[in-house]
Amino acid sequence: MLESDFASERRAMVAGQLRDRGIDDERVLAAMGRVPREAFLDEGDRPRAYEDAPIAIGFGQTMSQPFMVALIAQAADVRPGRKILDVGTGSGYAAAVLADLGAEVHSIERIPELAERATDRLGAAGYAGVRVHVGDGSLGVPEAAPFDAITVAAAAPRLPLTLYEQLVLGGRLVVPIGRRHTQRLEIAIRSPEGPAVLHSVPCRFVPLVGERGYRRSGRR
Ligand code: SAM
Repeated sequence: MLESDFASERRAMVAGQLRDRGIDDERVLAAMGRVPREAFLDEGDRPRAYEDAPIAIGFGQTMSQPFMVALIAQAADVRPGRKILDVGTGSGYAAAVLADLGAEVHSIERIPELAERATDRLGAAGYAGVRVHVGDGSLGVPEAAPFDAITVAAAAPRLPLTLYEQLVLGGRLVVPIGRRHTQRLEIAIRSPEGPAVLHSVPCRFVPLVGERGYRRSGRR
């Protein structure tokens, strides 16, 4: 496919999958209109880059559906200069969107091969400033904390307090909570009285596997 075909599919994705479904943060819409989603896929999968669905990226993992990437970025209230932790790098696409919004982005992935591939693709797409860490993101990245927002692209069994504690006061943790088939995207704002939790939409993500997530079997 030609560059111009991807660009026109990207515009259609922003209009039809995001704006028409209620994403109304113009900065998020503009970032999603700039980041080349196809650059985070293997060559053979690129024609599917703008499908309204998650896309398999190997190791049983997926690149999230464009709408979920936009919803999470919007909920995290990403602004230039803010420090964001993206848990579950996967393809690197969501990290690129957060970086395109002007944030200082740390991203953590538990599967080293995915982290390495994402690092290469982020660099090639012009987002070399994203720091990709390898490890258990359910424990956060304490050495880089505190964060203005933490976004999680995998479902946790309950609100991950270890991540919450790595937020600044007023910072936001955006995380899918629930079991394999029944999850909700939740937004927890750090406050002196404890987490102020806003419930958002139903969603479906792969499990967060780790010490503060699900064990490998998916049970906790
Ligand atoms: N945001 C990604 C993208 O744009 O491609 C989507 C990532 S995919 C839905 C979720 C990712 O979370 C997978 O790559 C998976 O390996 C990773 N993951 C699951 N549990 C994790 C953990 N405890 N720490 C770090 N990464 C984890």
